[in-house]
Amino acid sequence: MGKPHIPLPEIRAAAEACHRCPLSQGRTQTVFGVGNPRARVLFVGEAPGRNEDLQGEPFVGAAGHMLNDLLAIAGLSRDDVYIANVLKCRPPGNRDPRPEEIELCAPFLREQTRTIMPDFIVTLGKFATQFILKTEVGITRLHGTLQHAGRFSVFPIYHPAAALYDGSKREALENDFATLGELLRQAGIVAAAPDGSQPGGEGRVPQVRSVAAVPPDELGVAPQPSPVKENESFSQQKLL
Ligand code: URA
Repeated sequence: MGKPHIPLPEIRAAAEACHRCPLSQGRTQTVFGVGNPRARVLFVGEAPGRNEDLQGEPFVGAAGHMLNDLLAIAGLSRDDVYIANVLKCRPPGNRDPRPEEIELCAPFLREQTRTIMPDFIVTLGKFATQFILKTEVGITRLHGTLQHAGRFSVFPIYHPAAALYDGSKREALENDFATLGELLRQAGIVAAAPDGSQPGGEGRVPQVRSVAAVPPDELGVAPQPSPVKENESFSQQKLL
């Protein structure tokens, strides 16, 4: 029998008490994650921004509004899914996460994932994609392709904020969310509309981009095994 999963409130409490890296000193609060704890689709972003740090919820700023619009294309709403980030605290000035921060924060996302046990993980942008797939392959090549990590289907997508800064990314994002909706319909996770129409709009033919573009040996495998030992509560781990 596998290890028991840690209840989300216990993982959240451990994240809230975390001072493993200096990001904890600059945070207003941790941004643990939000949504349906039994979601079959887990979205993973990069790190909280200013609005998320203030409100304690992922994707509530401009990128969040964009994400809401894109979710609708896939036939999803925020209530259907769970949304979390690789980092639980805001990097100053919204700079990129550093490798050591990702490593120290990794147990929280890893345990969240084990507990929620989704079927699909949608990685938003470079950092989430590299973290989940353990790959150095760029998001430009991976977006819109169906990958696998352990038992999870992984669907990398550009970060929604990319569309805010680079209008040309919006079409790629919309196409990828339409494809995601199709994959989720095929998996029975999203119901087809009664009239057979697709939320992505008339005439859209979603297509998974070629997986062959990614040499399989460049991809990592499953998220690493849980560092939590049996009979050890999450907050009792000694990671430093
Ligand atoms: N960008 C992210 O990656 N995550 C958030 O929560 C907000 C913006």
